[in-house]
Amino acid sequence: MRLFNILFEEHSVHNTNLDTLYNKFNRKYFDNELPKVPISWNNNKRSGGMVKAKYNRSTGEINIISFQLSKQFKMSEEHLHGIMMHEMIHVYLFHVGIPYTTGKDKMHGIEFMAKLRELRKKVPFDIPVTEEVSEMEVSDHIKMKPVVVIEIGPNSIIPVSTKGFDSSDKEKFIQMLSRRIKNIEIYVSNSNVLSKFPVKRKLETVKGSYKISDDDIKKIRDKKITHIYSMIDTEVKFDLL
Ligand SMILES: [Zn+2]
Repeated sequence: MRLFNILFEEHSVHNTNLDTLYNKFNRKYFDNELPKVPISWNNNKRSGGMVKAKYNRSTGEINIISFQLSKQFKMSEEHLHGIMMHEMIHVYLFHVGIPYTTGKDKMHGIEFMAKLRELRKKVPFDIPVTEEVSEMEVSDHIKMKPVVVIEIGPNSIIPVSTKGFDSSDKEKFIQMLSRRIKNIEIYVSNSNVLSKFPVKRKLETVKGSYKISDDDIKKIRDKKITHIYSMIDTEVKFDLL
């Protein structure tokens, strides 16, 4: 088992040497024109990758501070290569002196899309248009603390920390919810899918809920630890912690 884990770890895309990959793509697709940049992995939950740069408006100088890809999500090698190229287009634009692209999207506007289309013809994998991660699956190595999941309706959740849930006025909150919502489920889960969502510290700070896919809600329910409360239409079960 241990050996298996080690072998598996060694072949995970998250162990890819990003500097080597950057240099390879720089040679292959950018005529080695791109500058050396500080590259690293991070655990960003909102974005698959990001390039940070400092732009000096008076001199027009653009300095790239960091180039990071997220380990938070499961990735195929193709996907990793796609995100890498996407971020390298940002580096390219900064390098040729374009801090912001033209159009509504200041980062992925006309100049970005032109370079993306040009490169898509040259590479054997897809280059994503955005760093969007909401559809991506969270990596297995991400460990999640138990969280209270308040499910309202079929595809909306409110994650609240167990501490915050315990110290809040639960009955008042549930009464307030049940006046407006017919189906409410409350339980504790430690699914790593929950790491995609901000966790509220108290019921008092809850404003609105997060939309969630059928797949993700299934994963969260599969990792259910304790059931706290459920109200399905008029049938009410009460079992507060
Ligand atoms: Zn981007």
